[in-house]
Order: sequence, then C-alpha cells, then structure tokens
Amino acid sequence: MREPTDLLQLRAMSARVGRNMLLVQGAGGNSSIKQDDVLWVKASGTWLADAEEKDIFVPVLLTAARAALARDDERIPLAAPGSLRASIETSLHALLPHRVVLHVHAVNTIAWAARRDARDDFAARLDGLTWCHLDYFHPGLPLARAVGAIVARERVDVLILANHGLVVGAETCEKAEALVHDVEKRLALPVRAAPAAGQAALKRLCAGTPYRLPGDPGCHDTATDPFSRAVATGGSLYPDHVVFLGPGLPTIDGADGLATLLARAEASGLPAPVAALVPGSGAIIRDDASPGAEPMLSCLALVTSRLPLSAEISYLSSQHEQMLLNWDAERYRQQLTASRQ
Ligand SMILES: [Zn+2]
Repeated sequence: MREPTDLLQLRAMSARVGRNMLLVQGAGGNSSIKQDDVLWVKASGTWLADAEEKDIFVPVLLTAARAALARDDERIPLAAPGSLRASIETSLHALLPHRVVLHVHAVNTIAWAARRDARDDFAARLDGLTWCHLDYFHPGLPLARAVGAIVARERVDVLILANHGLVVGAETCEKAEALVHDVEKRLALPVRAAPAAGQAALKRLCAGTPYRLPGDPGCHDTATDPFSRAVATGGSLYPDHVVFLGPGLPTIDGADGLATLLARAEASGLPAPVAALVPGSGAIIRDDASPGAEPMLSCLALVTSRLPLSAEISYLSSQHEQMLLNWDAERYRQQLTASRQ
C-alpha cells in the first residue's frame, strides 16, 4: 500500500505532541492522515510519543470505517494485514473531512472542559476559530456519532470535548499542530503553586507496602494543594483517569489509613487502588501500576492546579465510569500499554 508522502511529517508531529505532557499523557491522544480512500490512524494502545521509533499507524479504508460506524461496529478492519487494532477513535477521524486530524488531552482545554461555569469567558477566548463544544460522550462510537451529527451540518476545525479534551482538523500536520497550540494558548490558565511534598514521610509510609512514590514530583501537587485535592477526590474528570487509575482517587491518613485501605481491598477480593493521595504529603502509586497509570497522576496535577477556586466542577457520572471500566476495547488498550517496551 502506498504510504502518504507526509506520513513522515505525521510521525514527527505526533512524537513531538506525544512527548509534551501538557498535551498528551501516556497512551492518550491520537492522530491520522487521509490519502485517497485510506486513513492512516494511530493503532490502539500505542503511544504518540513512540511515533518515530515504532510503527504506530495502521491503514484503514475510509469507506470501511464509515460503514462500521453506520452498523455500530467498534472494530474496524485494517486495509492491510497486521496485528494491531485501529484506535478506538478511528470513526471520529474518518468522519472529519480534514486531511489531518489530531486529538489531544491538552491540560488547559481539559481544565475548561471540566467546568459547568464560565462558558462566556471560554467562548470569548475561542472567538474567531470555527469551533464547537460537545457534551460528554463515551469515547468510541457514541462520541463519533455525536461528532457525525455536527459535521453533517457545519464545518468545524476545533472540537472541545466536555470532560475529555480537544480535537482539531487541518489540511497539514503543521497546521494541525499549530491549531492545538493556538487553542491551548487562548485557553491558558494560571497555575496555582502547591505546597511542598513530604517525600521523606511518603517513603516511610510506602516502606514494606505495595506502593511507591511516583517518578514525577509534580504528581504530589494534587495531594498538597487542598483545592486540587478536593477536586480530585470528588470524582473523575475525564475517561483516561478512570481507565488507568479507577474512579476518583482515595485519600489515606498515614500508615493506619494505608493499612485499612489494603485490608479492605483484601477483604473485598478487589485490587487495592492504583494510586492514593496522602493529604499534605503527596501521591503514592502501586509498584505494579501500568506504564499508562503514572502519566495520569501527572495529568491530574496539571489539570487541577489550573482550575480556579471558583470553578464549578463537572464530573463523569457513575454510569459513565462503569461504562469505561467494563469496556472491552479499553481492556485491549490497557494490555498493550502494559506491555509497552
Ligand atoms: Zn481522548
């Protein structure tokens, strides 16, 4: 199959975007390019950050992708044999008319998209762009159907997905990347500085338990800043948080709190929470957490520190959380992410 001449550009752009923690965390985000009837889209479970070192793009026939959407089929056949699956969001990429589509979990966008209030301010900042705001939809087919209804009536280059992230469409990789940066610049929010973490206390707490400190010290900010902590423990802000860390985040109070948490998990037969917040000290994460989990702790700190104290937060409903936890396509993505070399 003939590869698009600018597939190299897509790889370079995707890797750049994927390495920027303010735009993409872990296995999140995806990108694509269309040529003739073929859509080259990120494979499920792969990381944008790996786009230059690994073959993360798979070819899909556009007509097949659109037909799969019409019959509510989440699994879209590849145009060439391969072991990977196309991204969960392939239908969305196929529906948008733009040659290049880029979906990111940009932290400023998410901070706005997880609020019920300040809609006028939000709209004013995006003035001049052809943009649209979508309510929350479960990723995959429900989201693609909602996007399909919009693109059937109007051309939009920027989609703000409530409690999820940002999708942009453009004719070139360069323009798509620039548009993401433009939106993030317009939506830029001041970052609240968090009190220092108590790393020594956290290390003592984790000793002899299945938990450790996260590698990114920024993860602690969610636990040391009271407002960020209240937001983070109040519910789940976006899908990848639920997929990789579970709903919300528990807080624990010292060694007794951790012992209780572990005992409760054992009694219930369920795994202990992937991560927890220790108020005033920092965040801890399980030793066996998947590589996709820790970037979600970083993301949470980056998003919550940008939410103003006056923000009215909108959380995913428990029904949406359950849909994410019981989702077959997501289990596949997690398995691949867990085996990332
Ligand atoms: Zn997403």
